[in-house]
Amino acid sequence: MQLDDLHKSYGEVPAVRGVTLDVAAGEFFSLLGPSGCGKTTTLRMIAGFETPTSGQVLIDGSDVSRVPPNDRPVNTVFQNYALFPFMSVEDNVAFGLRYQKVPKADAKRKVAEALEMVRMGQFAKRKPGQLSGGQQQRIALARAIVLGPRVLLLDEPLGALDARLRKTLQIELKSIQESLGITFIYVTHDQEEALTMSDRLAVMAGGLVEQVGTPAEVYDAPTTAYVADFLGSANILDVEIVGPASEGRTSVRVGGVTVQCGNRPPDAGEVKLVVRPERLSLEEMTEPSGAIPATVARVVYQGPTTDVIVRLAAGEELVVRRPSERAGQHSPGDTVTVHCREDALRLLPPGALS
Ligand code: ATP
Repeated sequence: MQLDDLHKSYGEVPAVRGVTLDVAAGEFFSLLGPSGCGKTTTLRMIAGFETPTSGQVLIDGSDVSRVPPNDRPVNTVFQNYALFPFMSVEDNVAFGLRYQKVPKADAKRKVAEALEMVRMGQFAKRKPGQLSGGQQQRIALARAIVLGPRVLLLDEPLGALDARLRKTLQIELKSIQESLGITFIYVTHDQEEALTMSDRLAVMAGGLVEQVGTPAEVYDAPTTAYVADFLGSANILDVEIVGPASEGRTSVRVGGVTVQCGNRPPDAGEVKLVVRPERLSLEEMTEPSGAIPATVARVVYQGPTTDVIVRLAAGEELVVRRPSERAGQHSPGDTVTVHCREDALRLLPPGALS
């Protein structure tokens, strides 16, 4: 499935401002971004519920931008399930098959298979009101997959469920997608969900795609400070560039000392120093990029890890995330030295946050 320079404006309000994506058949692809970034509007244009202001939606190579929703090889699973309350589970799942003129016996078999796939076979005769939220969402999923779409669109499908159930269903959804072998386009604002489930994801902001990549690419090599900040946590500092250190590296001043960053600034424009808290250490390491003196400001225990928040010479703060068993010796007021390898220090343009 391809999106080619897709735009959507509501009157004067631009919701999607030029989205181009190439999603491979069978891929689990997520659109990730904060509320209002345009991910639902993008999904609705793929579904056919919205007509693009300009640009194209291509499925299997043909432009479906002006094809009505029912005639697209696409189905959608919504956050609020949208089941018919007065119909049994099996009638809900069979509903769309009526319009495909599927013979009765075939329909019965397909419904049974779809219910088995979502492990809801034993609930076929119940009404939606007699099921939990997680079970209802499984039925909504069965109702969508029974129609055999080429692309399944999921709009925050786990958004209404509690954290533990979300985790279980994340794993199930991923394995259902693998066994069906169809393309999933998954909208979420939950970065952990996008990282754990997706083959690739697009991080969106302000109606545009900031970065596309595998979860590891986007997490480990964000191309903007915005993406680094949105996925996981990141220390983002204004720094003074002192000069190129050597091939592919840069010297910057931070906390009153000079450190080496593992990349060259992308442009002459504004840059930020970005470093993940887990890549910083308060212990000596081999080949550090530099040693930054600091004072411990706060220590925040988080179970397996502890954040030691340190203050640098000019007052900036850095979060240093340590395994809890190694962080216990630090208390507010302690003088420490922050170490880090140069490949953990990245100079990036600000991206959508600016
Ligand atoms: P959320 O996670 O909150 O649904 P989102 O990233 O999916 O956010 P969209 O729902 O696509 O964002 O909305 C993008 C922008 O378009 C927002 O500013 C929103 O207010 C606006 N918008 C969306 N639908 C309409 C509409 N029908 N009429 C006018 N403006 C709209």
